[in-house]
Amino acid sequence: MKAEIISIGSELTSGQNLDTNAQWLSQRLAEIGIVVGWHTTVADDFEANLDVFQTATRRAALVLATGGLGPTQDDLTREVLARMAGVELVLHADSLARIQEMFTSRRRVMPERNSVQALFPAGAEPIPNPRGTAPGIWMKHGASLVAAMPGVPSEMFAMYRDSVQPRLLAAGLGGAVQIQRKINCFGAGESAVEAKLLDLTRRGHVPEVGITVSDAVISLRILARAATPAEAQAQIAPVEATIRERLGEWVFGVEQEELEHAVAQHLEKEHLTLATAEGVTGGLIARLLTSIPGASGWYKGGVVAYQTDAKVQHLAVPHALIHEHGLFSAPVAEAMATACRIRFGADLGVSSVGIAGPGGGSTDRPVGLVWVGLSWDGGARTQTFSWIGTRKEVQSRAARLALNLVRLYKP
Ligand code: ATP
Ligand code: MG
Repeated sequence: MKAEIISIGSELTSGQNLDTNAQWLSQRLAEIGIVVGWHTTVADDFEANLDVFQTATRRAALVLATGGLGPTQDDLTREVLARMAGVELVLHADSLARIQEMFTSRRRVMPERNSVQALFPAGAEPIPNPRGTAPGIWMKHGASLVAAMPGVPSEMFAMYRDSVQPRLLAAGLGGAVQIQRKINCFGAGESAVEAKLLDLTRRGHVPEVGITVSDAVISLRILARAATPAEAQAQIAPVEATIRERLGEWVFGVEQEELEHAVAQHLEKEHLTLATAEGVTGGLIARLLTSIPGASGWYKGGVVAYQTDAKVQHLAVPHALIHEHGLFSAPVAEAMATACRIRFGADLGVSSVGIAGPGGGSTDRPVGLVWVGLSWDGGARTQTFSWIGTRKEVQSRAARLALNLVRLYKP
């Protein structure tokens, strides 16, 4: 059994945009043991689309299409599928209500044209779209299963994961499955992490365990291959448990979870608020925190105090302290963290100072040296690290080092 992926859009055939949907879908299908035999890209043209869908449903047991579900004249997928099946387009009342609701909830009036997105070939089923207006289309044609999804990658990803893949598995498509589990850690170097897991990371271990590093975050990937998802999960579970037990508080999340997610969860759970005082990270800590929905519940605000004067003037860091210890030092990081905590009336204050480079380093204070501080009512903690990296890398790692202090704070 083989699958075909159809990518629809003149912006693709013209070379204006690259078809990345087919690549992504092929990778997802490989994970569940479905082999892709064909990638077809077609312009927004009715006859060409009809021809492509007829050919695909003749040769492939599964046809996944993306694009052409929009409300405009050049969005032809629903009409093409109806013509191929020899049926009418019928209005699906629930889908129309949902599309209208999407607009109302944004205080907008639904353009008349959007109602076409609630039309489906008779006999087809809508696939919910959690991220946009256009539902997908699920239908059978001859011996083929067809799923048509939106072209916008983020909408397509969500629809595939939430609805299409479960339907493929339920339909018994696919052979050997391949499932990955990603476990994210912070607080130790790659070799220190691996040293605790040597028996798992050796070649030939089942399931496979690999290590990757990005922005000082170390990720372990467990890769299991088995006949069914349940069997693959059964391979993964004990290995994940061992990893968590051995790495302890280094582990902060799984899959796409970043340190800021772990911080958000921690602050929410402990009912704590946070303020920031940033030097070297220039607002990146604040940016990462506010990327989390609901940050206003626990993030009070912060200051970027970049020049020495600004640290003195706005964060009341004493001149004498800077003179005695230097700007890039534990006492200064601590003073900044405490000042922002008090000024913003937060439970915790977190700070960063350091030298992002490429200039400004010296032998005892090299480029890449960073101090971060955490302050709470009754105490403070600082941490230092020195990385070799570009300016951007130093800033991004420093921000993560600071977030990690917050994550590990125990009230
Ligand atoms: P929808 O069904 O969601 O309305 P559409 O094809 O009607 O999709 P377009 O306006 O054509 O919507 O495309 C929306 C965006 O998605 C565009 O930026 C387009 O480049 C992108 N896109 C469409 N198909 C692909 C693809 N195969 N790979 C990557 N990007 C794509
Ligand atoms: Mg299109």
